[in-house]
Amino acid sequence: MDKFDIRSATLDELCDFVESLGEKRYRGQQVFEWINQKFVENFDEMTNLPAAFREKLMIHTVFFAPKIVEKQISKDNSTKKFLFELQNYGIMDSVQVEAVLMAYRHGFSVCLSTQAGCRMGCDFCASGAHGLVRNLTAGEIAAQIYKISHSEGIGISNVVLMGMGEPLDNFDNVVKFIRLVNHAKGLNLGQRNITLSTCGLVPRIFDIIRENLQIGLAISLHAPNDQIRRRLMPIARKYSLDELLAACREYVRGGRRITFEYIMIDGVNDSAGNARELCKKLAGINCHINLIPANNIPEKGYTKSKPRAIAIFSNILENSGFTVTLRRELGSDISAACGQLRNSNRA
Ligand code: SAH
Repeated sequence: MDKFDIRSATLDELCDFVESLGEKRYRGQQVFEWINQKFVENFDEMTNLPAAFREKLMIHTVFFAPKIVEKQISKDNSTKKFLFELQNYGIMDSVQVEAVLMAYRHGFSVCLSTQAGCRMGCDFCASGAHGLVRNLTAGEIAAQIYKISHSEGIGISNVVLMGMGEPLDNFDNVVKFIRLVNHAKGLNLGQRNITLSTCGLVPRIFDIIRENLQIGLAISLHAPNDQIRRRLMPIARKYSLDELLAACREYVRGGRRITFEYIMIDGVNDSAGNARELCKKLAGINCHINLIPANNIPEKGYTKSKPRAIAIFSNILENSGFTVTLRRELGSDISAACGQLRNSNRA
């Protein structure tokens, strides 16, 4: 029998599990709080549990301690990038992933990885350059927050699933992660403070709608038509822009708003004509458009759009009534910016 993955367990699962070990259910809640609220990393620290019970947990569960193997701080001190080693004895391997902590006026936000590597293969993105290593478990995704919060001595108010990996390609673990950190007996992080970003796995967007989560959804759009999108993103060959936008229209039907992320790449997708085409495509969708000046990935030939092109593009969208923001380029000096996260453990 596989050992019980205690970091990925919901409160109910933990209570069922401790019962199966012959303990009272409330012991499950105690363990849940130690892990998800007090961020302890071994059973010895769970001081309100009898020694014999801790012994049983040690024998029957997997409980890894996330390790920070490297931490880089941006010059302006706004951004810190953490290289994690997640040694998961259940899966019998160890992978390295990155997470980024950003200080905003309103609090701290973390950008988490959901997979080691990625199989989406977007042309402009470093995270997927070497394919997928493996999915992260719910506990491994959550542990990135716990470790950062604990080691920095801060509370985290926002989480974005915009690090390495495609969250919807690791659907079950990501949904479980959301429910885990949302739980009142755990981190108690509001679903509205969690944003999931996807390159557009259309059937999984419908699954997200069915899960009835209150999280924010961001779509990596990056192009106003299939021709440009297919050049940049292999997933666009599988699902057309019209299919993707039909899923987005369904998502916003209940009054919700969606975010479209649009990387600005010089000479590729940033002309005034591209902006006008985008306005037509997105007409009628309750959305917010986030323009992201492309970050350099040395091995790719793409460069960021000129400030003038960005201003013109942005004006056209705004004049059509869209809300537009320009993403701050936080952390680019430590390669912590969008599309620069890598799996340093690659062969
Ligand atoms: N796979 C998900 C989650 C990754 S989010 C997704 O595609 O949305 C990371 C964001 O950074 C995405 O919007 C992605 O398209 C963007 N990104 C990737 N490479 C980039 C680059 N070189 N410059 C700017 N943004 C980039």
